[in-house]
This record gives sequence, structure tokens and C-alpha cells, in this order.
Amino acid sequence: MKVAEKVYLKAARMQWRLTTASPVLREDQPQFAMTVVAVADLGGGMRRVTFEAPELTDFTCCGPDEYFGLMMPRPGRALVLPDPEPLNVRASIADLAENDRPDLRWYTIRAHDRVAGRIEVDIVTHGDSGPGSAWTVRAVPGDRVGFRASGALYRGLEVAGRQVLVADETAVPSVAAILEALGGPQAAAERGVEVHVEVSDPAVLEQYDLGPAHVHVRRGLPGSAVVPALDQHLAAGGEPVAYAWACGESDLAAGARRALVRHGVDRRRIYFCGYWKLGQARG
Ligand SMILES: Cc1cc2nc3c(=O)[nH]c(=O)nc-3n(C[C@H](O)[C@H](O)[C@H](O)COP(=O)(O)OP(=O)(O)OC[C@H]3O[C@@H](n4cnc5c(N)ncnc54)[C@H](O)[C@@H]3O)c2cc1C
Repeated sequence: MKVAEKVYLKAARMQWRLTTASPVLREDQPQFAMTVVAVADLGGGMRRVTFEAPELTDFTCCGPDEYFGLMMPRPGRALVLPDPEPLNVRASIADLAENDRPDLRWYTIRAHDRVAGRIEVDIVTHGDSGPGSAWTVRAVPGDRVGFRASGALYRGLEVAGRQVLVADETAVPSVAAILEALGGPQAAAERGVEVHVEVSDPAVLEQYDLGPAHVHVRRGLPGSAVVPALDQHLAAGGEPVAYAWACGESDLAAGARRALVRHGVDRRRIYFCGYWKLGQARG
């Protein structure tokens, strides 16, 4: 890692500590090619893609909601990976010849099988309106893509007391992985972990066990169902919230954070992330 990148990382960590719960940043960011070995429809437009690579037998996740950059060759092009060294993967992709540049989107590792060198990734599809979705809709075994490690966001494994997890469908795979790391949905609920989910189609939840989750069906804009419900739920009282994690569409995540802050939760105990933004490419 270059000196300038180390300084940037240090400054980012300090900034996070002041305003929000900090994510887990990796010091190493392995990059390698993977092959699609299976694709399955889970319901509600969610597709599970299984990728294989020899490097995945050594790879170690740094948190339960480990996410990575998925580099997808443009339609009809072969996979070309960028220089793995720079911390900023977008900048290294921009250094490639225009025609060789892969599209890049971020996804969570739903499951990692080190023995088989495989990961499963659950991806919400929304037709051809973005390169991530368009690639996933057409993915078939044998397709080649790139993997660029990034980090993890959830830091609640060692937190005692009440936790609040808020998610839309894109963050349901992360919640499922977090609950698994906490010993399963029932064990998580018993130790005070609450799950608040908003989905546009409940069929997307069919293949997930989220335990006694509060599920809200979205009829309007992202956040319009879960945020007011969360607000009411927090207003009803209960233990102080020791840690919160809110991920999904940008306004949903920001709205959940505002509700938590309004009910007295310290900003530094809340991690929130706009996984995607309505009407805009995530970039
Ligand atoms: C840390 C992290 C982890 C993530 N993990 C997952 C994961 O495990 N599974 C997963 O499905 N997503 C996950 N996401 C979200 C995913 O990266 C975004 O949804 C991404 O925008 C999809 O890219 P795209 O090319 O399909 O659409 P974009 O190019 O980003 O957007 C194009 C258009 O599609 C719309 N759009 C984007 N996403 C959606 C959506 N979900 N529903 C409806 N419209 C949409 C946008 O508003 C825009 O108008 C994660 C994001 C982050 C940052």
C-alpha cells in the first residue's frame, strides 16, 4: 500500500470514529478471477450465484457481512483485470483501455466454502437498468468475473445488549450472514438482536430464515414502510440500543439512522450504508 493510501485510510478511520460506528477495513485487498459454477433463482428476483476460484481456499473473511467488488466484463468482451496494487479499484480500472474495462459493483458474500474454494452471492435483479443486474440476469456456469476484496461493515458480534438491524432486499443476504455468525436467528433474537426489513416483494424472503423479524412491504419510496415503523417501535421504549446497522437504499439507510438518533442512540453506535440509490447508478 502506498504512503498516500495509508494516510487516507488513517484519516477515514478517524472521521468514522467521530460520526459513525466504523466498518472493518482490510489491509490486504486480494484480487483474482473467478468462474461461475451455479446460478439459482431464490424468488422475488433474487438470484444466487456460486463462484469458484483456487484463491478462495485461502481467503479469510474479516467480518460476517464481508463484501467485495465484482468485476464483470462488458457484454461480448473477455475478462481483463486491473492492476491489483492501488487501493482505489475504480482508478485502476480507469487505467485500462476503454474496451477492456470491466463493470464494477459491490456484493456481500452470503456463504464461503473454503474447502471447495467457492462463495455464494445473492443478488437482487432489476432487469437491465444497471450493469450488475444485467450481468446477473444472464449469468451462466462458465462465466468469468473478477473478485476484489474490500472489507466488512457489521461490528456487533462482541456487543452485549440490544441491537437493531435494518435492511432492504439488497441487504437481506448480509443480515442472513450476520444472524448465522450470531449463532442463528433464534440465538440472535435471544441476545437482543432485532431485525427490521423492508421489501417490495415478500417472495424475496422465501429462502431466508430471519427469525422473528419485523417485515414491511414497500408500497412507495424506499424507506417509506420501514422507517416510520422503526420510529414507532423505538418510541415504544425497551432497552437502550447498544449497536445498530442500517443498509439498503440510500434514503432508507439514512432515514433509519435519523430515527435511531432521534430516539437517543449515539451516532457512533450506528453504522449505515447506502447500498444503492434510487434513480442513480451506484458507481
Ligand atoms: C457493501 C455493499 C454490499 C452489497 N451487497 C449486496 C448483495 O449482497 N446483494 C445485492 O443484491 N446487492 C448488494 N449491494 C447493492 C448493489 O451493489 C447495488 O444494488 C448496485 O447498485 C447494483 O448495481 P446495478 O448495476 O444493478 O445498478 P446501478 O447501476 O447501481 O443502478 C442503475 C439503476 O438501477 C436502480 N437500482 C439499483 N439497485 C436496485 C435495486 N436493488 N432495486 C431496484 N432498482 C435498483 C438504480 O436506482 C438506478 O436507477 C451491496 C452494496 C454495497 C455497497
